[in-house]
Amino acid sequence: MRIPLRQMIDLGRHMRRKKRAGEKYFPLVLMLEPLHACNLACIGCGRIVEYKDTIRDQMALEDALGSAQEADAPIVSICGGEPLMYKHIAPLTQRLISEQRRHVMICTNAILLERFVKQVAPSPYLSFNLHIDGMRETNDRVLARKGHFDIVVKMIKMLKERGYRVQTNSTIYRETGADEVEELIRFLGGLGVDGMLVTPGYHYQVLTNDDLYMTSDEMPYKFQRVRKLADDYKLINTPLYLDFLVGERDLLCSPWTTVTRNPRGWKGPCYLITNGHYETFKELHAATDWEYYRTKQDIRCKDCRLHSGFEGTVALDFGKNLKDSWRVVRHYLA
Ligand code: SF4
Repeated sequence: MRIPLRQMIDLGRHMRRKKRAGEKYFPLVLMLEPLHACNLACIGCGRIVEYKDTIRDQMALEDALGSAQEADAPIVSICGGEPLMYKHIAPLTQRLISEQRRHVMICTNAILLERFVKQVAPSPYLSFNLHIDGMRETNDRVLARKGHFDIVVKMIKMLKERGYRVQTNSTIYRETGADEVEELIRFLGGLGVDGMLVTPGYHYQVLTNDDLYMTSDEMPYKFQRVRKLADDYKLINTPLYLDFLVGERDLLCSPWTTVTRNPRGWKGPCYLITNGHYETFKELHAATDWEYYRTKQDIRCKDCRLHSGFEGTVALDFGKNLKDSWRVVRHYLA
């Protein structure tokens, strides 16, 4: 299975509970960024640009745990910055799992993994999302660290041997050819990863290096190749989101399904663009015209294909169209 069964069941239960309670705008995933500091300086990273003034700040452990309760999402993706540099990463992970029964995903560049696995044992509620943006040459150039590709490969093998669930997260930039994307998927499949997320890199608010990012016109060709591999390799992207990347269907955005909390507060309206930071999730919710962003009216939404906003729509629409829903189920069960 591409997604753990328990996670799928918990997500389904959560959506039914919220809908029964009459809630329309509720989170499915909390993007928890306890810090923005990183041991890399990737050329496509918006966080180290946007948060350069607060790059040394870290959330208190109780704040991080409290924000998971506030969002009440079944999945907590701990990202950043590099989350393994967060001083409370081990107790945060353990307590989110043991006290709150959240599904925890750690999005990491893998450099500090050996230290972390000495502290936190495998769990059905824990998975790693390792950052790898291409084959050796491309990855090491984009991440600006020679030897990073080899570290990730070593860490995938180590995690698999020790019984952890391992996924990968790859951003595809303009310079990454379709052949290389295919090579990467086959390579990661050969390493036995449990899931692969492949997303387009596109320009947004704080980034200036336009040459690096794909426009929406450039995405279809590369993602047609990805879609062809989705039956044989463990891609996590849903078939409906891949249709969207290929340009064969439109999707509305659901930014409230993936909310972001960081040392400055609740970031809104979405993971990418920032109108402000709010002290509580309630304030973020009250300050945001979700329908405006759902319908992508903002100029900053123009080229956006962010998986979380659009996969959130796929999740919320599950069951509305039987054919689409069956495609999603079949994809995840494969
Ligand atoms: S379309 Fe993209 S930029 Fe616009 S609200 Fe959704 S995720 Fe944010």
